[in-house]
Amino acid sequence: MKAETVIIGGGVVGASIAYHLTERGAKDVLVLDRAHSLGEGSTGKATGGVRAQFETDVNIQMSLYSIDFFAKWDHDAEYDPKGYVFLATNNLHLDYLNRTGERQRELGYEGVHLVTQDEISKMVPGMNVDDIVGGSFGPQDGFINPLSVLEGFVVGAHSRGARVLPGIAVKKIDVEHDRVTRVETNNGYIDCERVVLAAGAWSATVAASVGIDLPVKPQRRQIVWAEAPEPLPADLPMVIGLKDGFHFRRARDFTHGAAEQDPRAVLFAYADPEEPVSFSTKFDDEFLLKVGDLAGYRAPFLNGSRIVYDRCRAGLYENTPDHHPILGGCDIEGLYFACGFSGHGVMHSPATGRALAEIMLDGEASFLDVSRLNLGRFSQGMLLNETSFI
Ligand SMILES: Cc1cc2nc3c(=O)[nH]c(=O)nc-3n(C[C@H](O)[C@H](O)[C@H](O)COP(=O)(O)OP(=O)(O)OC[C@H]3O[C@@H](n4cnc5c(N)ncnc54)[C@H](O)[C@@H]3O)c2cc1C
Repeated sequence: MKAETVIIGGGVVGASIAYHLTERGAKDVLVLDRAHSLGEGSTGKATGGVRAQFETDVNIQMSLYSIDFFAKWDHDAEYDPKGYVFLATNNLHLDYLNRTGERQRELGYEGVHLVTQDEISKMVPGMNVDDIVGGSFGPQDGFINPLSVLEGFVVGAHSRGARVLPGIAVKKIDVEHDRVTRVETNNGYIDCERVVLAAGAWSATVAASVGIDLPVKPQRRQIVWAEAPEPLPADLPMVIGLKDGFHFRRARDFTHGAAEQDPRAVLFAYADPEEPVSFSTKFDDEFLLKVGDLAGYRAPFLNGSRIVYDRCRAGLYENTPDHHPILGGCDIEGLYFACGFSGHGVMHSPATGRALAEIMLDGEASFLDVSRLNLGRFSQGMLLNETSFI
């Protein structure tokens, strides 16, 4: 079998790259995924949040580009700009929100602004705001449906000639004279000129086959699905505490239409600092106790919620040391990376797809400077700093 370009991984990132490559006229693009249906990696586990309230320029710009894409796309990504409200419980965090908000506005994020304790209390009735000194609200932040985004990219890429093959696992990338020549799969070899590694949390395993020590580490993230005693406000934003990363939103079943959603359904989670590096995706009852305490404190209206056990879930973040993705090529000709999204891969998938298509076809991305995201930054000590990693 042959293909000009092989994309390893048919999650939202690999699919977006296929979509953008074929949009630019690339022929013979083949997406491989070892799972038998698409979306079984992290994409199908995501909360569906999208935000441009970040610290680094590149994160802010990738988000602003992607939000605009979702809003204008001819496919319905179910972009719903309900906003994100970040909560500060000390002046250090409030200063951080003030400073980063200023930069976000300079880069084109209209309307992001600081909010007072009183305003937050009105935005989220019943929330405990006793220790909150203020916060920030981003009106273009909000929600998307990760499975719908994936579908839009797959359908678009397919309609322009890309092939998508589920059930094919790549075991190894073969290189001769510093050039990619083929991939070895569970179903034989595929000769190719270019390979894009977009295998999410599993990317480092594949990169090891060409001797590259890719700094992408898997880490479990768990989310609780519960049914609150009372319906939640229809316009509830994503609410996130900067202190502990505790966050909640109205829950959304991404396989069903908006009309069928239960107004009492809520998702809540936090970034457990004790979570080790592992490939475990088992939802753990102990997590309920930890996050339950945070929920009871911050959102007392959730007390007495019924836990919907069969909808609680755990998936993998794909973390890099600086919590930014790895985008672009390397010393091996024809080998490209699009991985390490550190929990932001769905929201950044449009910018990523376009960046990779431009890098592969033109040599660099011109719509946005993503050069800081190259693999070389780790060996050169050029790491980025993003505090708002949640
Ligand atoms: C609980 C949770 C909540 C999250 N919430 C958000 C959120 O609100 N917003 C957001 O933007 N992001 C969120 N994320 C992160 C987001 O889900 C990921 O960053 C994103 O899905 C990454 O997409 P991907 O295509 O790179 O990876 P994946 O979706 O994991 O796709 C990688 C694919 O590669 C395939 N694969 C792996 N190895 C091989 C191989 N050897 N051969 C062939 N195929 C292979 C896998 O089967 C998989 O389908 C969340 C993640 C989790 C776990």
